[in-house]
Amino acid sequence: MSNQIAVAERSRVRECLHKDGGTMGQFFPGERYIRALQSLRGEDALELSRKVGPLFWSDAPHTRVWLCADCAQEAML
Ligand SMILES: [Zn+2]
Repeated sequence: MSNQIAVAERSRVRECLHKDGGTMGQFFPGERYIRALQSLRGEDALELSRKVGPLFWSDAPHTRVWLCADCAQEAML
């Protein structure tokens, strides 16, 4: 039971692949992240989304996205 909750919680978080390296970063609301992604050029958006993983509009309102300082800067957040 508690495991199922943990999985559900985790599915609502996206992280860039630099998090495990102990890099500094912060969470952004999913909607803000997607909006930032859409304002980037196609290639840049693709490159960034590869580091973070897929996130769909339907999930964005309940998802938090953790970005390291570099990725946040790339996203212009
Ligand atoms: Zn990063």
